[in-house]
Amino acid sequence: AHEAAQHLGRLFQDLLDVTKAEDGRLSNNPKVIDVVQFTSNIIDALKPKADQKGLRLFFKPLIADSGMKTIDPIYYVDVDADHLREVLSNLLENAIKYTPVGEVVINITGDDDNVVISIADSGIGIPAEDIPHLFQKFYRVDNSDTREIGGTGLGLYLVRRLVEAIGGRVWVESEYKKGSTFSVELPRISHEEATRIIEAGVNEGGRPNFTS
Ligand code: ATP
Ligand code: MG
Repeated sequence: AHEAAQHLGRLFQDLLDVTKAEDGRLSNNPKVIDVVQFTSNIIDALKPKADQKGLRLFFKPLIADSGMKTIDPIYYVDVDADHLREVLSNLLENAIKYTPVGEVVINITGDDDNVVISIADSGIGIPAEDIPHLFQKFYRVDNSDTREIGGTGLGLYLVRRLVEAIGGRVWVESEYKKGSTFSVELPRISHEEATRIIEAGVNEGGRPNFTS
């Protein structure tokens, strides 16, 4: 009953967000986000789902390099935290849902200008002919691999709308029956810029400008 209620709650939130996105009424409250910390929290929340299916969940930035000590870069973005959470939860939920056995690997990479969060699974994969349609509203792959798996086909549509609303891009690479990798690219801000925005928020005494 708890799970069913949770599912309905999510569906309702998704529908609400889709409606707002289509009316151009999506809220946008950018905050400075430490992407590694933020993503790590989302993974923790979804870990029980992966455990239930016996899937391994790896978060690359937190896996210590064997031998050599390296200092991981800190990636800051300045985007709406609720939107980013919705995007990453949807992609991670899909990765777990469409992977019968194996693993889901989440990585964060980037350069001076961008941060890329990637979610790679060893799941059912997506046929090449479906890939161009995936981010459309209510689109679901219909074949013997997916028929038993429930869903509304709203998740990826919403993901695309939300990523666009926060100034990013989303795309997928997939091999049918092998697995899929979904990537989200967001504009990166420098450490100095992050500090400046956070301090400006504190001085204004206004909204908190930092979320992790
Ligand atoms: P929901 O609205 O509950 O998210 P859904 O998961 O079916 O329903 P989307 O998240 O929009 O809808 O995904 C659309 C379709 O893309 C899915 O039905 C599935 O066929 C395919 N898909 C999405 N993610 C993956 C994945 N990681 N591996 C394989 N297929 C996927
Ligand atoms: Mg989905």
